[in-house]
Amino acid sequence: MNKIQNILKDYGLRLTPNREAILNYIIEKNHAVSNSDVEQTFVDMDRVTIYRTLNTFMKKGIIHEIADGTNASKYAICSEKCSVHEHHDEHVHFRCSKCNKTTCIDTISIPNIQLPEGYIFEKSSYIISGVCKSCNKNI
Ligand SMILES: [Zn+2]
Ligand SMILES: [Zn+2]
Ligand SMILES: [Zn+2]
Repeated sequence: MNKIQNILKDYGLRLTPNREAILNYIIEKNHAVSNSDVEQTFVDMDRVTIYRTLNTFMKKGIIHEIADGTNASKYAICSEKCSVHEHHDEHVHFRCSKCNKTTCIDTISIPNIQLPEGYIFEKSSYIISGVCKSCNKNI
């Protein structure tokens, strides 16, 4: 069994060629991918299958959704702290204005924000935009 198959098994997912291919693709990218990135990579795959697979991965705590201020949601691999029950991806995301890639900066946590009385927290996102390490030619 390879690494990808082990991950699927660990999260209690049945092995299917589609799941293995999509998970492998997301893991190999070092930035977040959108639904349409996956569709364009796997042109032979049914769109509904792709959508469902991403949703399954999200529910299981394998990937998390990132709202980076663009129209399309992006997905990236979760940290090991995530599980079926809860996501713990309260980290900063960085969007590069040159390559348009969104990456997880999981070394920086989103600060705890105290909401005014009567407001109920659901989720937060913290996006920093700028120039990423690979586009920054000054280093
Ligand atoms: Zn997560
Ligand atoms: Zn960049
Ligand atoms: Zn992230």
